[in-house]
Amino acid sequence: MRDLALLPKAHLHLHFTGSMRTSTLAALANAQGIKLPHHLVDDHALHVPADQRGWFRFQRSYDTARAVVRSEAAMRRIVREAAEDDAAEGSRRLEIQVDPTSYAPFVGGITPALEIVLDEARLASAATGVEVGVIVAASRTRHPLDARTLARLAAAHAGDGPGQVIGFGLSNDERRGNTADWAPAFRIARHAGLAGVPHGGELLGPEHVRDVVAHLKPARLGHGVRTAEDPDLLARIVDAGIALEVCPSSNVSLGVYPDAAHVPLSRLLDAGAEVALGADDPLLFLSRLNDQYRIARDEHGLDDAALAGLARSSIRASLASETSKREMLADVDAWLAAEPVPAW
Ligand SMILES: [Zn+2]
Repeated sequence: MRDLALLPKAHLHLHFTGSMRTSTLAALANAQGIKLPHHLVDDHALHVPADQRGWFRFQRSYDTARAVVRSEAAMRRIVREAAEDDAAEGSRRLEIQVDPTSYAPFVGGITPALEIVLDEARLASAATGVEVGVIVAASRTRHPLDARTLARLAAAHAGDGPGQVIGFGLSNDERRGNTADWAPAFRIARHAGLAGVPHGGELLGPEHVRDVVAHLKPARLGHGVRTAEDPDLLARIVDAGIALEVCPSSNVSLGVYPDAAHVPLSRLLDAGAEVALGADDPLLFLSRLNDQYRIARDEHGLDDAALAGLARSSIRASLASETSKREMLADVDAWLAAEPVPAW
């Protein structure tokens, strides 16, 4: 078996606060005299039922972690370490999503909050060799008018270079709000050339995916795994070229499937879906990017050729330049062409 850490890949589903190392969370809390609940720094992954109470527990943990991020230095550290951790896992391209609203009070507003992330993404790209692009994500818990403000801010920083905004997302509990209400924000983003990458189809099923596709016109779906429940819808998603950011550890932690073997990865791949594996929130799920590839290998029986196929999918579904994509894809071919290291 070949070393997954050497497999070139793109990481398309990772949240800013959720990317934090446990040790960094503990250090930031300690420096501010904040006492963290033990479950945030122990070695047990979050595991909640897939209902509203479960989501509430997840969100409370996430909010507690976010509350320690109160400075420009902390924000820069998170971006830098996310790029370093991705580099160590063979990721060549990281598309990290952030809602700058939460950090705005500590750095003078949403514009500086986003610009700090963008500037550090540019520096981290140069320092680590991982291209770091930024997705601005609105939240379903806030008013859709807030999303429009964020979309305009994202549009003002749109571009395809490192440290520019490449896409626009929508996160938080899929059950919140009316999807159509966010259509204007996605229209603003789309007109600025930003790809739409909303969450959908993890906590809710095919009906919700249909709504998200109809109203938000996504280039990719955050999760979208439950599209597997409706073969016709899945075929339409495949035909439309909408990629799926599949995060198996997240699905298990949030109780969507009882274990990683039940994530319908094979069903999605057999239907021809463009699947990009992602870690989502490693801080809470204690599972990083290569753990998702390991799950595909160990729980779904994917061999190295199929794993290289997943890596190629992640690269094709990324918002990298065509030149970068060509280079990364050639390196995936080289990984597969190399002799596997004998297992001990
Ligand atoms: Zn997510």
